Amino acid sequence: MGVKTFLKNMMTWITIGGVSNGFFDDLYWSAWVAWRQQRPVNGLTYWRSPHSVEGDAVPDSPFGPSFSMLRPVRGGNAFEETIEHILQTIKLGIFAPAEKLPPERELAEQLGVSRATLRDALGELQSAGYLEVQRGRYGGTYVSASAVQRQPDQGPLDPAEVEDVLLFRSIIEPAAASLAAKADLSAAARRHLQVCLSEVSASPAVGYRPRDARFHIAVAELSGSASLVGAVAETRSRLNELLDRIPLLSTNLDHANEQHAEIAEAILRGDAPAAERATIEHLEGTASLLRGFLA
Ligand SMILES: [Zn+2]
Repeated sequence: MGVKTFLKNMMTWITIGGVSNGFFDDLYWSAWVAWRQQRPVNGLTYWRSPHSVEGDAVPDSPFGPSFSMLRPVRGGNAFEETIEHILQTIKLGIFAPAEKLPPERELAEQLGVSRATLRDALGELQSAGYLEVQRGRYGGTYVSASAVQRQPDQGPLDPAEVEDVLLFRSIIEPAAASLAAKADLSAAARRHLQVCLSEVSASPAVGYRPRDARFHIAVAELSGSASLVGAVAETRSRLNELLDRIPLLSTNLDHANEQHAEIAEAILRGDAPAAERATIEHLEGTASLLRGFLA
């Protein structure tokens, strides 16, 4: 759209009384729509979702093509956040059922992750039934036709309950890890943490979650606060009801094992800030997966 048309649109808006609180938004939006209508699609099949025409559509952002809603991941939990962001775009209908995903190189760039991380995430989402890979001339990674109809088997979830569990956990567990690192630990306490760590690290996928829970409760036990142990255990049982609804992803388990080791090492060398930080990082990874799969 040329400058003249833009100015004309602007004048029209002012004349018809478009000046309001949302004036600049409206103006930007209408200018952007006009610009989009003129823009050739250039074979970018993912440019907009077929559902984004009307109805329950999520409109494309005026700031760029629809997949720019795939915001870059923040770092420590690249794999888990990649899963979360891709699932979000599928559930929002930005990538619609049976729609082809953008090429790996572009997706990786958009998410700010390596292609290896992206491939891991796409592979896991394929195993979990959200994506399908098609070979041949029109080959590529497609959103499964049934992806958005996937519902957890155990009845409806209250999103407020999910957020409450994640929030409470993000307060008590880093605090427990910090206290454990500051505590004067007996040899038995240190051994207890090491045993729980090696048991979860050596665990196969089957039986992983109970050992994971045991490790997290052990950290609380070392904090010296019985109330914290109770709170961590109780929150864990609420969390398990959520974890039971999402698939176990082997890349996430490897990552969790590294994070557990970091937490335990920080506690054992008495580094409270590092123990707290590593715990926050670890919990955020789990939270990303839960938000991605359960949202
Ligand atoms: Zn864990």
